[in-house]
Amino acid sequence: MSAKMYDTFKVNSPNVTYTDEAIISNYEYQTTTTTVEDGELVVKPVTAKYTFKTERKVPKMGCMIVGLGGNNGSTVVAGCIANREGLCWKTKSGVQKPNYFGSVIMASTIKLGSDENGRDSYIPLKNIVPMVHPNDIVFGGWDINSANLADAMERAEVLEYDLQRQLVPHMKEIRPLPSIYFPDFIAANQKDRANNVLTGTKKEQMEQIRRDIREFKTANALDKIVVIWSANTERFSAIIPGTNDTWANLEAAIARGDEEISPSTLFAVACILEDTPYINGSPQNTFVPGVTELALQRNVTIGGDDFKTGQTKIKSVLTDFLVSAGIKPVSIVSYNHLGNNDGKNLSAPQQFRSKEITKSNVVDDMIASNSILYKEGEHPDHVIVIKYVPYVGDSKRAMDEYTSQIFMGGHNTLVIHNTCEDSLLAAPIILDLVILAELADRISLKPQESQDYVSFHPVLSILSYLLKAPLVPEKANVVNALFKQRAAIENILKACVGLPPDNNMLLESQVK
Ligand code: NAD
Repeated sequence: MSAKMYDTFKVNSPNVTYTDEAIISNYEYQTTTTTVEDGELVVKPVTAKYTFKTERKVPKMGCMIVGLGGNNGSTVVAGCIANREGLCWKTKSGVQKPNYFGSVIMASTIKLGSDENGRDSYIPLKNIVPMVHPNDIVFGGWDINSANLADAMERAEVLEYDLQRQLVPHMKEIRPLPSIYFPDFIAANQKDRANNVLTGTKKEQMEQIRRDIREFKTANALDKIVVIWSANTERFSAIIPGTNDTWANLEAAIARGDEEISPSTLFAVACILEDTPYINGSPQNTFVPGVTELALQRNVTIGGDDFKTGQTKIKSVLTDFLVSAGIKPVSIVSYNHLGNNDGKNLSAPQQFRSKEITKSNVVDDMIASNSILYKEGEHPDHVIVIKYVPYVGDSKRAMDEYTSQIFMGGHNTLVIHNTCEDSLLAAPIILDLVILAELADRISLKPQESQDYVSFHPVLSILSYLLKAPLVPEKANVVNALFKQRAAIENILKACVGLPPDNNMLLESQVK
């Protein structure tokens, strides 16, 4: 039985109302809670009632990228312009049209049900509730290098020449704003790039970023902006009591120009103070406790850390598959080599260390879920190596070896070789992050017992699908398994239109 795809749909349910302003859905959230009584696990099904409200008006949206002139920055802007303008380009194998492949929002589908013949009905994920279209996003941002985006795109060597040629007129007028540069935080080998930097005290530079956000919003008549860090990976900041452990201490530390305050932390603070969502696409610990406290206080969305593109995405699928199949991964070894500027920056030990940390934790939840395979505290050997090989440019190579124990002491070794332009993987993820962060801002929930709608927690964990080391609210569990993360997005969006999660039971066809 094949599936059929539709563009639009309407829900036939007394629990869902579409008004001009909003979609209101009365929803039964079925979950289970557990307790331990007399040493025994007691599981209780629970049904909680919520009302979801999704505002229907899609705002005029801006995205400001820190690291706009980088490979990711220039590629995401170029990709959206090519799509918007319908630019097609010749390659040695024919004419290529622009697309949004790799964006879960723009290029994946969602099953809404089955018809009377058992045929599944799908719609594009982007059509389930009103969402910003990437063609309509206005891009801007900052870079410590002054190259305009046409030159930046050429430097990146990511897109085909015939496309670059057509994009130049659209890109050459886009110039990154001067940015915050503290040489100590990124590799010394980036110094030559820094010719577009702010001066002044830390506080003055942070205030300039706030002005930049306001001015970009006004100049482009935008309703909303999301800021994304896609600049070089910084070293980790030390968490120092009295410096960055609380918002009060961080504010004072910024005012006195404390050395341990990183550029990315200043960007995050500037954004939160401007009520602008901020997402960290690199591994460093931008969200020191003082930043998170400020985001919670002001209820401004933050998301992080580190775009989840190739190797980690595979890892969060493969390890989930192995462990949930009852197979025990005992060694996971990941080599990468890449030759773009990200690779050059990561060739310095402190910046590599940031990446190593975010890449390391991705299997933790899956290992912890199965104590048949792993004793308390036991973990597979998990090693990550990254090497800078200029010749391969943006075409990153990732080689992974998974060795697992199988039945009766046997072994199974899987080897994966992944070659891909890194920035072509990252660019659609940047778009998904912007679209989802904006959408989350338009969704509110009201528990049955409450009078008031509340927004999602400012630490926006539904972005986890797109991020290597997901930031989650305090006390919440980190979920790394990719399909659980996708199911969270899908099921929340379905709840917005009053539809239950897909339970995959297929009872209709299980019973004769
Ligand atoms: P890139 O080096 O090409 O781009 C980074 C840009 O940031 C450069 O143009 C640089 O001049 C600029 N920059 C550095 N410090 C800055 C600052 N303080 N303010 C403003 N601009 C600054 O790197 P990329 O390939 O575009 O990757 C960007 C980031 O995304 C890296 O940290 C990388 O680790 C992370 N990332 C990339 C991928 C991917 O697949 N491409 C995946 C996960 C994470």
